[in-house]
Amino acid sequence: MVMRIQLENLEGGRGDFAQVYQPDELNPVDERVILTQPATVSGKIRLSGNEVFVEGHVETLAQLECDRCLKPVQLPVNADFSLEYMTGAEYESSSVAALSEEEMSVSVFDGESIDVDEIVKEQILLALPARTLCQEECKGICPECGIDLNTGQCNCTPNEVDPRWAALKDLKQ
Ligand SMILES: [Zn+2]
Ligand SMILES: [Zn+2]
Repeated sequence: MVMRIQLENLEGGRGDFAQVYQPDELNPVDERVILTQPATVSGKIRLSGNEVFVEGHVETLAQLECDRCLKPVQLPVNADFSLEYMTGAEYESSSVAALSEEEMSVSVFDGESIDVDEIVKEQILLALPARTLCQEECKGICPECGIDLNTGQCNCTPNEVDPRWAALKDLKQ
């Protein structure tokens, strides 16, 4: 663990934080994402009653695999975040009906400390697209021989029949 903010150490219930994470301190961010450059985070934390507000900014360069050809793809991350935390007890006592949609995004924490490592990982993942392609027109890998179809061709029989149409054909016979 690199950075955890203890609320009891905050003077006047507020404070600033900043941290540079080396890639190996966060890797792997998840099973499909690693960092190839340090990640920087900076922000402000504020206590208000039993709630904690954390605002800040994360920057890094993430590396993912192309969904089709598995080549590494680098994507810059540059994200602002604004988070709200409540203790579990506090969360349960505020009736779900009374929570607006915005407030539904409140996170539950232990009441003592905020895990900045976790925030940074989460924000990196949120900033990345659900789908990653090395190029819009990536041709992918031949499922038969494994050749990268962006850089070469093979003689495998192309199996272009969509399985849904194949099923229709069977019905007609
Ligand atoms: Zn690709
Ligand atoms: Zn092939």
